[in-house]
Parts: sequence; C-alpha cells; structure tokens
Amino acid sequence: MDSPQTPKRHIVCVPYPAQGHINPMMQLAKILRCMGFHITFVNSEYNHKRFIKSHGPEFVKGFPDFVYETIPDGLPPSDKDATQDIPMLCDSTRKTCYGPFKDLVLKLNASENVPPISCIIADGIMGVIGKVAKDMGIPEIQLWTASVCGYLGYLQFDELVEQGMVPFKDQKEIDEALDLNLDWIKGMSNMRLRDLPSFIRGRNCLKSSAVIINTFEDLDEEGLEVLRSYNPNIYTIGPLDLLGRHFPEKEKGFMSVGSSLWKNDSNCLTWLNKWEPNTVVYVNFGSIAVMTAEHLREFAWGLANSKLPFLWIKRADIVAGDSEDLPQEFFDEIKDRGYITSWCMQEKVLSHPSVGVFLTHCGWNSTLEGIYAGVPMICWPFFSDQHTNCRYICANWGVGMEINQDVKRDEICELVTEMIKGEKGKEIRQKSLEWKKKAIKATDVGGSSYNNIQKLIKDVSSRNA
Ligand code: UDP
Repeated sequence: MDSPQTPKRHIVCVPYPAQGHINPMMQLAKILRCMGFHITFVNSEYNHKRFIKSHGPEFVKGFPDFVYETIPDGLPPSDKDATQDIPMLCDSTRKTCYGPFKDLVLKLNASENVPPISCIIADGIMGVIGKVAKDMGIPEIQLWTASVCGYLGYLQFDELVEQGMVPFKDQKEIDEALDLNLDWIKGMSNMRLRDLPSFIRGRNCLKSSAVIINTFEDLDEEGLEVLRSYNPNIYTIGPLDLLGRHFPEKEKGFMSVGSSLWKNDSNCLTWLNKWEPNTVVYVNFGSIAVMTAEHLREFAWGLANSKLPFLWIKRADIVAGDSEDLPQEFFDEIKDRGYITSWCMQEKVLSHPSVGVFLTHCGWNSTLEGIYAGVPMICWPFFSDQHTNCRYICANWGVGMEINQDVKRDEICELVTEMIKGEKGKEIRQKSLEWKKKAIKATDVGGSSYNNIQKLIKDVSSRNA
C-alpha cells in the first residue's frame, strides 16, 4: 500500500475507553502508522494501567512514531481489573474529558519531538473529543465502532415517537408490540420492534466531516446507502483486522501489539489443537455483558449435557452482583472436554479450525470477527445494538440462530448440537463461509475496504490543520 507522505503527518487516535472500542481503534491506528503517519494513541489512565498489567511495560514503548498518551476518564481511581460501569463512564467522559484532552493537544502541538497534529480520529461516541477538535480548528474524523444496522435502528426512535408507537403505556403494551413488523424502515430488512437497539449513543456522529466504519460494503449495502444520505463521506474499511494483513511485521512485533485490557490465556489455543475441525463450541460474551446466576447455570449445564467439547471464556464479573461458583459435579462432568478461562485472543480462537460454532452476545466486533472467520453463531444479545446485530446475523446474513433471552439448558444443548452436527448447522456453515470469502475479497488488493483506506489516507493527507 502507498505511504504517501514526507514529512510525516500526525494523527491523534482517541478511542472510547472500553474494550470493544479500543480494539478497532488500535487496529486502525496500527494500519495508519504502517502507512506512514505518526500516531498518538490516547488511553484513559485506568485502561493504560491495565494495558501495562496485561502486556508488560515493554509493550508501551519501543516503536517509533507510535506513542501512547493518557487522559483521566473522570471516574474515581481504581486498581480493579474489571469492566467499568458503562453508563457512569459515558457520563463522566462527556463531562470531564474536554479540559484534559485540550491540554494534551496543546502539549503535543508545542512539542518539538512530534509533528503538529493534522487530524484527530475520535470514537463516534466521544462527541467531547470532536468538540475539542472543532474549537481548536483541527480536522476531525469519527470512527464508528458499532454496527451500521444498529445505528440505523437507533435513528428510527424519532419516527416511532412521531408515529405514536412509543412511549408505551405499560409493560403489557410493550409485550404486545415486540413482534410488530417495521417494514417501513428504509435500509433495513426483517425488522421487528424487539430488534431495535436498546440504546446507542453518538447521534451527532454522522455530522462529522467523515465517518469510518468497521464493516465492508457487501455486508451492509442497503444500510450504507441510507447512512450516506446523511453523510456521503463514509469510509467502510473493515474488517480492520483482515486489512492489517497487508502490513507484514517489518518491525518485529509491531502489528501484533495487542489491545486487551485482560491478560490473555494462550493455552486455550494449544487445547484447541487436540480437537477435530468444526467440533468445538466457543462461548464468549465479550467485555461488558452480564447475566444472572441462574442463566449461568443453564449455559453451563446446556454445554455439559451436549457432550461436545467447548471453550468457555467466563469473565470473573460475568454474573451480575455476587459471583457464582458452579458445582463440582459440573466440573467432574466436563473435565475431559471443557476448557474454561477468563480471557482469550478471540480472533485467533475464531480462526482456529476446531471451532465449529460461536455462542456470542453479538457485540459488533465479535459479530464481524465471527463473520470473517466463517464461524456460525448462536446469538444471545445483551444490550445496545446487539439485538439488531442478532437479527441481521439470523434473518439477513443467515449465519446464526438465536436463543431465547430466558435461556434454558435444553435449548442450549439442542442448538449447539444442531450447529455442530445437524443439517441446519451445515447450511449455516456454508453461508458463513460465503461471507468469509466476501470479507476477504473486500480487504484484498482492489477490494472495497482496501480502496477506501487509500481514499481515507488521501483525505487525511490533504487536510490542513
Ligand atoms: N475479546 C477478546 N477476548 C475475549 C473477549 C473479547 O479478545 O476473551 C475482544 C473481541 O475479540 C472483541 C472485543 O473484545 O474485539 C469485544 O467487543 P464486542 O464489540 O464484541 O463486545 P463488547 O465487549 O463491546 O460488548
């Protein structure tokens, strides 16, 4: 790929400080650095400490033109290694990040060691960063890390109010309306009221001069057309991880710099080696989703009763409230075929040939990672755009099946067995492989995402701070 510039231009990348936002921003930042930019990557102080704890201190130094900076997230200091309270974090970043980020920009622009800032790439839900950029006259682009379908769903809320469908009077009215068909939504297919996002922020994201989205044209064709009627400057450059393959490790280790806030258990990859292709159930609910102790038990026994091998990533804080210990009887039952750990390198796990199905909460990154790995999904969405993603996975892209929210062990057992051994599973695997091919094609030389990143670079290079 081209590296168009001398002297170097400086891009400041500011993710929203949660795992599902940090990962795509990091992938983008690494690609941009490989394409010749000087990068400042801005972590929250809390997350940066966790980065160092998970990867070691050498992780944050050692690569020229890739520098970390930190700003506080506004929450009280904590040494815990856990998911922060997301609503509180949204509130605190919105209220407190303006001043510290502005100070950082002033410091960087006054420094003789780095080029002046040419562009700020902010997460689409970090409106406060966009405001600093605007106030300081620095070009800004947004990275939207959730899904296109989630964003479109979210844009319908005003329309629903206008049509008098919401707000509802009571729970009964909600229950009755859940299956209501929303065929009138432009750019979306097969939508029911229950599939709209539970919330999604970043309403002003589309007002930015340009928006980068971690998806690819074929996947979201219909929805992108509608989003482009709001903002024509949309760059789809995903799956970012696949695009990254064009940049081999010229410097040892740079492209494999990770961005996990938790410590990875790499032994699970060795464990996967002992199973036949497409036989293992991989279970991971991402970095934020929580469940009740009862649902945890249902998942556990559903997996155990299936007699299938499974890799279950069970975060220490996955159960809301008190932690829940599963009984010894369960561990005795699964000892030869169940591997349970608290964090893994998901992209590596999903690309392992043994993995036959992905039981997921449908976070956008996980969804896209499942799609480009060609792994069928079983969906148990938790919040935000995950309900919409689930609908798209099952009804539009045909790469998964949904489980009831009030999940029961028999249903889990039946679904995982069907996906690994049944006819429906075979059909879905076939469809998943087709999407995998399309994702690879989009990021191949001449593919839509490959071309779009080149256009993005030209755009950034032509902007004058
Ligand atoms: N992830 C990971 N290892 C884990 C769990 C999650 O690497 O054990 C990564 C996953 O690959 C994805 C991100 O964390 O890139 C989670 O983002 P997603 O949008 O799927 O869900 P969220 O955590 O935001 O709910």
